[in-house]
Amino acid sequence: MSVLVYIENTEGLLKKSAFEVASYASQIANLQQTQAVAISIGDVADTELQKLENYGISKVLTVTNDNLKSFINQAYASIIAAGAQKEGADIVVLSNSFSGKGLAPRIATKLEAGLVSGAISIPTFNADSTEVKRTAFSSKAIATVTITSPIKVITLSPNAFEVEEHKVSAQIENFVPEIATTDFNTIVKEIVRATDKISLPEAEIVVSAGRGLKGPENWGMIEELADVLGAATACSKPVSDAGWRPHAEHVGQTGIVVSPNLYIAIGISGAIQHLAGVSSSKTIVVINKDPEAPFFKVADYGIVGDAFVVVPQLIAALKTYKG
Ligand code: FAD
Repeated sequence: MSVLVYIENTEGLLKKSAFEVASYASQIANLQQTQAVAISIGDVADTELQKLENYGISKVLTVTNDNLKSFINQAYASIIAAGAQKEGADIVVLSNSFSGKGLAPRIATKLEAGLVSGAISIPTFNADSTEVKRTAFSSKAIATVTITSPIKVITLSPNAFEVEEHKVSAQIENFVPEIATTDFNTIVKEIVRATDKISLPEAEIVVSAGRGLKGPENWGMIEELADVLGAATACSKPVSDAGWRPHAEHVGQTGIVVSPNLYIAIGISGAIQHLAGVSSSKTIVVINKDPEAPFFKVADYGIVGDAFVVVPQLIAALKTYKG
């Protein structure tokens, strides 16, 4: 028995979610009196992987191969499933990220495991079942899902779980699983960046604006605020529908789901479909001139005021603060 956790990286650097899932997996392993093993795919330096030992990971399997530099669902799923079999893992943990959502069902099928996506807390282990809490109905309710299969695959909701440091010593092991050529049904030949801007799904800070901005000509101050904060920009659906901003920035139920540390919503009412895409943000700041705007109900901090007054003041204050 062991807990295997898939650790994501971006261009060789571990993602924030890597430490969340590592800490989550090691706490499960402690409960189960077993060990937490991480699996990393792609070129990640040992010094970077070694950081996982601060979060209770005692072993890291590292898989490197020229064909695995880019994310390929089928191949990555086969490798993680092979890692689970090699380690005799009865629990496999992933982040409920874009790639985690694609991988988890494939891994569950390969391992004949039960799957819960979007877990928000440590499972409860009973004699013949495991109960996992997850959010449901766009975070309006909490569902308790029971898994009865011997092997379980769990994806962890970003920002739902407080990372705890737990220092152990980690051994790094090169893992060379057999990968079927059919797993490489997609070959990534080249990655062309559409923009140099910070990627929205990965952003730690997001500055987002809605119809309250009146028109595309007013986005200069949103871009400036994002620049000062090192943030990605986002928008509500009507804004991208109207062509004020690109569709790639549309956040919500029908758009991108973000989970930054800080989400700043400016002139956005806070409709349930928008909230579905931002509810796993750690801290939400709302700027709206209507004190009754629904967004204030889920905000950690709120500023009731005209965006055209508040945002320039915020930019000036941040510039002064940063010197
Ligand atoms: P509005 O609702 O028009 O709100 C504008 C806000 O700006 C108001 O609260 C107003 O008080 C404030 N404001 C106005 N002027 C100022 C000012 N000067 N300073 C400060 N504040 C000001 N929406 C999404 O965003 N994402 C989705 O994925 C999505 N999916 C949908 C799916 C379906 C099936 C449906 C039916 C709808 C969906 N919507 C989605 C639309 C959603 O219901 C709302 O209509 C939309 O989110 C509203 O956008 P908004 O807040 O920018 O605009």
